[in-house]
Amino acid sequence: MIADLAADQGVWGPGPGDGAAVGAAWEALRTVMDPEIPVLSVVDLGMIRGVEAGEGGRLRVRLSPTYSGCPATGIIALEVARALDAAGFPNAEVVTEVAPPWTTDWISPAGLDRLRESGIAPPPRGAGKRALVAPEERIACPRCGSTDTEVISAFGSTACKALHRCRSCLEPFDSFKCI
Ligand SMILES: [Zn+2]
Repeated sequence: MIADLAADQGVWGPGPGDGAAVGAAWEALRTVMDPEIPVLSVVDLGMIRGVEAGEGGRLRVRLSPTYSGCPATGIIALEVARALDAAGFPNAEVVTEVAPPWTTDWISPAGLDRLRESGIAPPPRGAGKRALVAPEERIACPRCGSTDTEVISAFGSTACKALHRCRSCLEPFDSFKCI
């Protein structure tokens, strides 16, 4: 039930009533990686809120920015348009949608696995906005799983990540900053 709800909010693919063109567009969108977190596609991040075929088959893609003011958002919209163009949808319209606001809970389960595999601590499920109030909250080390970790810097290798250190294995690691 919770998984269904998450899939519902994160979207991640075409719906049952969508045609082949919309399906092909989703496949193209899966190749657009986040410039800051290159192991995650915009689909896995839950940034793609919907793909619709409008009049004359023109596609409309609704895109949710991850962090408001994240400088990568403009680049991502361009990359999305470019990927759709390459997939045979030259006039796709990319619309930015700010409500409801994006949350880390929209990241797909596969995306969370890829974060972990690449040494970035994934955000805890349901952490969403809570983490803003408690930035010192313990994040599990992606290498050894220990929760005996500390925040070294609220800003990691990019503005969307925070830098932590594990007190068990002493390794520093990035976490995906929650909003
Ligand atoms: Zn560790």
